[in-house]
Amino acid sequence: MNLQGDPGGIPHYVFSFAQGDRSQADLLGGKGANLAEMTRLGLPVPPGFTVSTVACRAYLAAGQFPEGLAEQIHDFLMLLEREMGQSLGDAADPLLVSVRSGGRFSMPGMMDTVLNIGLNDASVRGLAIRANDERFAWDSYRRLIQMFGKTVLGLDGHGFEQALDEAKSRAKVNSDVDLPVAELKNLVTTFKGMIVNLADLEFPQDPYQQLTMAVQAVFDSWNTDRARLYRRRERIPHDLGTAVNVQVMAFGNAGEGSGTGVAFTRDPSTGARGVYGDYLQNAQGEDVVAGIRNTLQLEQLEEIDPKSYRELLDIMRRLELHYRDLCDIEFTIERGKFWMLQTRVGKRTAGAAFRIATQLVDEHVITLDEALLRVTGHQLSQLMFPRFAADVSHQLIARGMSASPGAAVGRVVFDSATAVAWAEAGEKVILVRRETNPDDLAGMVAAAGILTSRGGKTSHAAVVARGMGKTAVCGAEELEVETAAKRLTTHEGVVVIEGDAISIDGATGEVFLGEVPVVSSPVAEYFEHGMAQALTTADQATNELIHAVDRLIAHADERRRLRVRANADNPVDALRSRMMGAEGIGLLRTEHMFLGDRKVYVERLIIAETQQEHDEALAALLPLQRKDFIRILEVMDGLPVTIRLIDPPLHEFLPNLTELAVRVAVAEARGERNAAELRMLQAVRRLHEENPMLGLRGVRLGLVLPGLFALQVRAIAEAACFRQKLGGNPKAEIMIPLVGSIQELELVIDEAAGVLKDVAQANGCTLSFPIGTMIELPRAAVTADQIAEAAEFFSFGTNDLTQTTWGFSRDDVEAAFFSTYLEKGVFSVSPFESIDREGVGELVRIAVERGRRTRPGLHCGVCGEHGGDPDSIHFFDEVGLDYVSCSPFRVPVARLESGRATVERTASGSDSR
Ligand code: PEP
Ligand code: MG
Repeated sequence: MNLQGDPGGIPHYVFSFAQGDRSQADLLGGKGANLAEMTRLGLPVPPGFTVSTVACRAYLAAGQFPEGLAEQIHDFLMLLEREMGQSLGDAADPLLVSVRSGGRFSMPGMMDTVLNIGLNDASVRGLAIRANDERFAWDSYRRLIQMFGKTVLGLDGHGFEQALDEAKSRAKVNSDVDLPVAELKNLVTTFKGMIVNLADLEFPQDPYQQLTMAVQAVFDSWNTDRARLYRRRERIPHDLGTAVNVQVMAFGNAGEGSGTGVAFTRDPSTGARGVYGDYLQNAQGEDVVAGIRNTLQLEQLEEIDPKSYRELLDIMRRLELHYRDLCDIEFTIERGKFWMLQTRVGKRTAGAAFRIATQLVDEHVITLDEALLRVTGHQLSQLMFPRFAADVSHQLIARGMSASPGAAVGRVVFDSATAVAWAEAGEKVILVRRETNPDDLAGMVAAAGILTSRGGKTSHAAVVARGMGKTAVCGAEELEVETAAKRLTTHEGVVVIEGDAISIDGATGEVFLGEVPVVSSPVAEYFEHGMAQALTTADQATNELIHAVDRLIAHADERRRLRVRANADNPVDALRSRMMGAEGIGLLRTEHMFLGDRKVYVERLIIAETQQEHDEALAALLPLQRKDFIRILEVMDGLPVTIRLIDPPLHEFLPNLTELAVRVAVAEARGERNAAELRMLQAVRRLHEENPMLGLRGVRLGLVLPGLFALQVRAIAEAACFRQKLGGNPKAEIMIPLVGSIQELELVIDEAAGVLKDVAQANGCTLSFPIGTMIELPRAAVTADQIAEAAEFFSFGTNDLTQTTWGFSRDDVEAAFFSTYLEKGVFSVSPFESIDREGVGELVRIAVERGRRTRPGLHCGVCGEHGGDPDSIHFFDEVGLDYVSCSPFRVPVARLESGRATVERTASGSDSR
């Protein structure tokens, strides 16, 4: 067959492992591309071929195999048979293959695998004779029928497991490896009967039909609910499709000298150096990943099979140097012969990512720039998660494996549906299972943490939880979990039922009864209080982590073009943000200075009826504002502080209309009369708005209530003069909110300029504050060229800009229908969380361009929530903003992501500025 040509316009759907390499993950999927890469490196990979993602997409579009696919699979199978000198289904010496999914991005456990294809009633006997092992042959056959029933025919797996359990109890054995041949043969008959009964179909004896149906099932598994849910969560596009790998079987279940394992070149949980993994003797691959039997530690393989162990170590060293990163692998040993079944750059926890990246720099494998690209802002924010308080005594009820770090407290639930229902009702829950399987995904997403009694660090629960950054403890064997009875029992007899609170520590594997208080993380401690303080309390691994974070954040600072400021409204937050590395305040919301006790002053101003009341209310505000500004300018001395003039949606400051009306009516009915409340009611009625977020806010309020903005400008100016006289270097910037037109801005600027001049003269100081505007309305964005004639800087208020561009009420829509929109794929992430590049983002781009056309070099930043969102930061870097501003805790994340953005941009050559 001609592999290169184009057979009559039909695309090549199938590729042998010898044809590809790791750069072809789009076409061959991650697994297929890596199998090809290992084949190219000469590693011991059982031969096979990959049916491409192109074939999958064509199948999913048409609902059937595209023309030519069946023939190509057939041709490649023949080549494989020729290479192996065996054929599929041969009664004397059968070739057996596995069929495994493998998309562009890893989706552990989400899609399907079928092993041992090629066995039927005749070839099972041939295999028994050839292998000289009847038990092995019949065990392989019952596994095929079981997997075929569950995966290809979609039958409920519990029935098969129940039959297996019954066989074990009949034979009085605990483990399936001890089942005698007769029971395995019985099982084959039982399983075949189940398939006839439940699927109304004979288990296909034609091995080619088995293969075709399995390939089709893998394609279909791309669109199962759990796979879609996983992709939505991980933001993997739905239209990629999966590849299918067909590979000659290597048998880990061929007796004591055989086995299967999963290994990592470093500890993916902590990042510690040294190989790490699980091994299971006399088993097939799925047994390890599913966590069905408890595994041995990889080091124990050294005693069991030293030759294979040495080969494994040697291959792992080669792979790590070749991929220049942590690799995870799946291997099988068949009667002493070592086979590689899979490798990929391994998933890891956030802490491991930082440690491994810097270790590889020290080992001269990667550069610091590359190290920066190996960690993410999401990971850094995970590391800033709290942990349990060490000095509080709490009842340890079990210990499992530290599968995914963090500290989670919640009420126990035993099934996925309850986890989802309770979480939706606002409860924090811990999902407790013997072992999880992919059907539990929704519950895992909903839970605060996951606890299992079976399975290792590489089990489904562990892999998925780590990927989600969710706390998990796995393999807490001393717990007896009774799912049906909704109860778990510790080996000391403590019984925990559904609804009881427990706390799990994903870093130590400990499980505690009740709610354990939590404390902040050492990484957060490092950012807030400095290296010295964080190191003294930490252990060796934590010390290494803190050093790794320190080194990578320092490198990000060196590389980044974007400056990072914080949104802070009080001296405590301002100080914290400075410690976190903020280079100024990008948004000081002055209305936050008037909440709580001070609300009454704004209330008085709003309802003032006479000039005198109005002036008195303003006069009362002035000293309070001045004091606030003095404190903040002192904390932030030498750094810019962007003070936004008041932008209160009025409803936040006024009493609720209905409640007040009822109070007044009740008082009147009792013959009582409260003049102040009555007056307030009239004012609230007068000012009541149906859409306060689109009402009398921001600059509009400043223009309607004369003197309010002037008062604030005066307070800022006087505070700055005061600081200057004390030798300080106050760098205030005045920002006007919710501007839609240049006229609004000019009116405010005129008034402010007058006040600044007055204060400067009266106090004998020089005041040269830039006065700029928020860009948070589409009209402001499109008229940015005009607005820049008056504004000395722009700061994008992407919260309001998102609200007004989409026409979404900030206050209502997230609860009302975002879950439906996310579900239906209208967007993959809330536009309030991550910037909508094509819509809202385009307005940002337009405004920057037009603003700078009028005023070259116009200073531009963003202070909406998006300023701390990793994905959005890359966009803001790309459109040329000068800084992002975010909440103090997100400042380190923003520093790291800004550095990554620069490195990515320069590496991809897209640096057009
Ligand atoms: C914004 O709209 O993005 C913004 C920062 O202002 P606020 O959230 O205070 O309206
Ligand atoms: Mg706003």
